[in-house]
Amino acid sequence: MHLSDATWTDADDLDTDLALLPVGSTEQHGPHAPLATDALNAEAVADAGAAAYDGEVVVAPPVTVGVSEEHRQFTGTLWVSPDTFRRYVRETVASLAHHGWDRVVLVNGHGGNVAALREVAGTITRDDDAYAVPFTWFEAVGDHAGDMGHAGPLETALLRHVYPDLVREERVDEAREGASDGWGEWVSHANLAVDSAEFTENGVVGDPTAGDERRGEELLDLAGAALAALLDAVESRDVRLPDHR
Ligand SMILES: [Zn+2]
Repeated sequence: MHLSDATWTDADDLDTDLALLPVGSTEQHGPHAPLATDALNAEAVADAGAAAYDGEVVVAPPVTVGVSEEHRQFTGTLWVSPDTFRRYVRETVASLAHHGWDRVVLVNGHGGNVAALREVAGTITRDDDAYAVPFTWFEAVGDHAGDMGHAGPLETALLRHVYPDLVREERVDEAREGASDGWGEWVSHANLAVDSAEFTENGVVGDPTAGDERRGEELLDLAGAALAALLDAVESRDVRLPDHR
């Protein structure tokens, strides 16, 4: 059930301790895809996971500004510090837990959020009255995962499937031409670059023409199934942490 559409009385009738919190960003996704790409995709995957799961689960509204300062040279990109982001996610999870939805999967659509989500999930589980697990959809799509760029084949494919009108098809060739092949500038396994503008001309990494609508449908099926399996494991897990060994 989507909290955004539900009334409080609908929410009150629910009998589950599971919630999904979609987490995205508002940041450049090349000349062809919207700034909201990561939040839209995270929410679509959360919906697919909730639909594939055999049981009730609350879907919270998405966190739409994340850890995106690495895209600051591209107009429209918004960001908060990792500190602010972790606190916001932590307090949002605490309010879900207040209503009894205290096993929460953080359904993430943005690579820049990954480190902060891992940290805050640990803090929540150790110190708060809730259990939180981060899940990043593009890591849970089998062999496709190796093609993840930025506004590249995977993100563009998923958008084409869930929000086709938001992909500017007439600019996809241009998006490919200004793209870089990989994320960062690597020497000796170290990334010399801090911001994406150092290695991509138009913000794109990877080939967005390599992700058609059918691929997007497959990605959504794979990520939704992986999320449903995760919900099963989260539901049945003994979440009490050992004090000592
Ligand atoms: Zn993205």
